[in-house]
Amino acid sequence: MPARDHFHSVMRIGPVQIGTHRDRHGRTQHAAVCTADRCGWSSDFSSRSAAQLAARTHRCKVR
Ligand SMILES: [Zn+2]
Repeated sequence: MPARDHFHSVMRIGPVQIGTHRDRHGRTQHAAVCTADRCGWSSDFSSRSAAQLAARTHRCKVR
């Protein structure tokens, strides 16, 4: 399962993993990454609640 090295504060909602990391501008970003094989969905959010909402509403193409 893909995991970014610099993730911390990782939590999981369904197949989606949420981790906090810093982008290359030094800002804290909350990334939501689907861990399902062949899905590949991931997205960065500026707030944790936005990432959690996206994780809850993510509709995985892969079952
Ligand atoms: Zn997915």
